[in-house]
Amino acid sequence: MDPTVLIREAELSGHRVDVRIEGEFIAEIEARLEPMPGEETIEANGGALLPGLHDHHIHLFSLAASLESIACGPPETCDLDALENAITRAARASGGRASGLRGAGYFESVAGPLDRELLDRLCPDRPIRIQHRSGSMWFLNSHALDALRLEQTNADLLPEGIERDEDGRPTGRLFRLDAWLRERLAPRDEVDLSAVGSLLASRGVTGLTDATPTNGPLEIDAFRKAQASGALAQRIVLMGSLELHEASSDDDLCVGPYKILLDEPALPDFDRLVDEIRAAHSMHRVAAIHTVTRSEILFAIAALEAAGVRPGDRLEHASVAPPETLETVSRLALTIVTQPNFVAERGDAYLAEVETIDLPYLYRLRSWIDAGIALGGGTDAPFGRPDPWRAMRAAVDRRTPSRAVLGRGEALSPERALGLFLTEPSDPGGALRVVAAGRRADLCLLDVPWRKARIELEADHVSTTIRNGRVIWARPHEHAAL
Ligand SMILES: [Zn+2]
Repeated sequence: MDPTVLIREAELSGHRVDVRIEGEFIAEIEARLEPMPGEETIEANGGALLPGLHDHHIHLFSLAASLESIACGPPETCDLDALENAITRAARASGGRASGLRGAGYFESVAGPLDRELLDRLCPDRPIRIQHRSGSMWFLNSHALDALRLEQTNADLLPEGIERDEDGRPTGRLFRLDAWLRERLAPRDEVDLSAVGSLLASRGVTGLTDATPTNGPLEIDAFRKAQASGALAQRIVLMGSLELHEASSDDDLCVGPYKILLDEPALPDFDRLVDEIRAAHSMHRVAAIHTVTRSEILFAIAALEAAGVRPGDRLEHASVAPPETLETVSRLALTIVTQPNFVAERGDAYLAEVETIDLPYLYRLRSWIDAGIALGGGTDAPFGRPDPWRAMRAAVDRRTPSRAVLGRGEALSPERALGLFLTEPSDPGGALRVVAAGRRADLCLLDVPWRKARIELEADHVSTTIRNGRVIWARPHEHAAL
């Protein structure tokens, strides 16, 4: 017989119940269930029992790297002195070894545009590479550039995106070369995903959609290995290139949308984009188009309309959505996956930098729902913080870091905000998963009833996370086996 787990006195839809899990599924839910000999028991003490959360837009490998990276942008690092201190501390912490350093989250407000000369001054004795907050740019010092052997490599073999000065010397700025850099400096199979897995489990996350456009067979292998070793307990949907095949899908890991990155001002050829969307559809895959600016969202919608929409086609972020997009997105029945946490993380910068006319259209939530559009939530970690609860809080209060309110009319109720993370992985904005007998036991148990949790929306209230019937995270001292 499958091992069983009994959760006692959990709050489910306002009632106190006992829940028995058998193997990977919920077996029984009753007002009172007698513990069986040898059964693992979890005392919920009236805490709310929710379906496990699904983060519909995240980047696992980048998150793993960022956990080991120097924080090079606000709020941790706000000026040149702070950046220098952070780099010096990291160099000291790595001991006498002249191993390379990695930074993340850089933003121009810290010290303007970075280049190799500035980085050589800040870090003269070892390689350092720093990623821009947008994820689209890297800054390298001379040691790091040497490690890439640019001088020794035939120029025809080098990709576009390595910026050079008038003398042909690399400036240290690399654009959209994430995958190329990684192959040379940090291969996938050497990355340890266990810290990411347990961090997300501690926030009640039992599933995630990795939205990295370059995901391919290498990433499938690395994720499968991490799941097999237990480093990563979450269920994964993998967006990525057209090289990914549905055939490699199962319940733990399945191939999801074909991810398309738009990058204004260099928007792709319209007809080619339409062909790409059609190619994805013909392989039974939906398209997920990254749209951050006004022209990107209009371009993406026009391309989807021209290609013909497949149910499930989605727009990622939809950061700026002018009024006319509500009508077309609704008519085409597109899905939106957005990140309310950016209001809490970058809201003040938006208020200062975004054109006034676009401010009311930023990170819409309520307008999508009112227009009958399927809306799902993700954190975009590590570009946003890896905490769905923080995203829910921002969806409810719409507060920027300085507590200003951004788009009050877009606020959601706590229940709607929670719902952004409760649908099936393949159906953001669709029907909510529920805790019921016969369902897969992917669960998030809180230490307080929902009426209290809904006010705070704090990850600290997660006490136990269960995936496929197995406890994958429990807050220390609160999970006792009898
Ligand atoms: Zn993303």
